[in-house]
Amino acid sequence: MKKTTPLPADVDPCDQPGHGHAALRLDEARARILAEVRPVEGSETLDLRAALGRVLSAPVRSAVNVPAHDNSAMDGYALAGTDLPDDGEKAFPVIGTSWAGRPFEGAVRAGECIRIMTGATLPEGVDTIVMQEHVRRDGDMAVIASGHRPGQHRRLAGEDIRAGDVALAAGTLLMPAHLGLIASIGTGRVEVRRRPRVAIFSTGDELRGIGEELGEGQIYDSNRYSLHGMATRLGLEVLDLGVVRDTREATQAAFEEAAARADAIVTSGGVSVGEADYVVETLQQYGQVGFWKVAMKPGKPIAFGRVGRALFFGLPGNPVSVMATFYQLVQPALRKLTGSAEADLPILLKATCQSKLKKKPGRLEFQRGILERAADGGYLVRSASHQGAGVLRSMTEANCFIVLPLEQETVHPGAEVEVQPFAGLV
Ligand code: AMP
Ligand code: MG
Repeated sequence: MKKTTPLPADVDPCDQPGHGHAALRLDEARARILAEVRPVEGSETLDLRAALGRVLSAPVRSAVNVPAHDNSAMDGYALAGTDLPDDGEKAFPVIGTSWAGRPFEGAVRAGECIRIMTGATLPEGVDTIVMQEHVRRDGDMAVIASGHRPGQHRRLAGEDIRAGDVALAAGTLLMPAHLGLIASIGTGRVEVRRRPRVAIFSTGDELRGIGEELGEGQIYDSNRYSLHGMATRLGLEVLDLGVVRDTREATQAAFEEAAARADAIVTSGGVSVGEADYVVETLQQYGQVGFWKVAMKPGKPIAFGRVGRALFFGLPGNPVSVMATFYQLVQPALRKLTGSAEADLPILLKATCQSKLKKKPGRLEFQRGILERAADGGYLVRSASHQGAGVLRSMTEANCFIVLPLEQETVHPGAEVEVQPFAGLV
């Protein structure tokens, strides 16, 4: 593979901000990464149900009004607003019924009313609905008192969507409500962007696959499984390239295969400056963008760049670091790759901390926490088990990150902290 043209930010890694003492702030690292990402090209047409979680590549326009006709928002009686009594009561003969899907045929004249159900079309001559709880029946007559407003409880044709309007813009990430809305205009197929393909591999001589015997000092590769899960949840297609041994040749071969087949590459391990760390060295051959010490914990150096046309994210090896750096740095970039115009709005809640959280100033920390609702409606959070970067159990026990700002020192019980719930994030 050819070395790609170095990008403007490309300089010797040791001269890059983020090296030496000046670690790069997380928001700065995220902004630099996002600036390099362009949505994938190409689209496909899918049946509506299959499009859940996909991103519209073209706007969806409506050929029809929704609702198609003026109709009732209530079960009750429909009449002309001009007939409503100003004071006292007035009795109206009930001349028929309009059901949802079975409209009243004919016109309603002044002084008359019809029985009407929710969703039923308003016939000619009526524009006002009085809910049935406010009507007294007296034989064939409906008795209505004053206090109603002409035009009340009427849904107007086109009130939801007007014929010819763009119902949904390109870049919309399709959630359940969007599927319903598209169905409501009678459209059954939609054009969505191609799913980006992400290649993942783990690096490390100590790693073994499930089913293999563990020798001295060996561990099972867990990162490929958490990465597979995180990428799949984003709606990406995952290409799993397995475990890559810590040699220059194996690392280069994996880079080439990944770049030839994927839009993005996410690896774990081998980005420290240990003797067996070939990821950064290999990335440099292809014109790297950055190799940064990001001021976050967990998360040691992060390698970011391009291999051919593919985006490259070299994450640290520790299982918790992989997850934290993925959520904070890689996920926003992969979202942008999908073409989603959705703003990434990480939800942050304030909670009262019940544990002592050890913290030194200098890094933005993502400690693992267990969040619960207090009786007074506020939130309480406590630390989830061992906070070591290698202790994946802390992620499975936790339901949030406790986000401790750069300059924060140790937190004592009773203090207010910010938490990022996993719901919506993971
Ligand atoms: P490294 O960044 O390659 O120095 O790895 C840091 C730590 O993470 C070491 O203890 C590794 O054994 C561990 N580690 C690296 N990759 C994996 C993996 N795929 N699954 C589980 N642990 C890993
Ligand atoms: Mg390693």
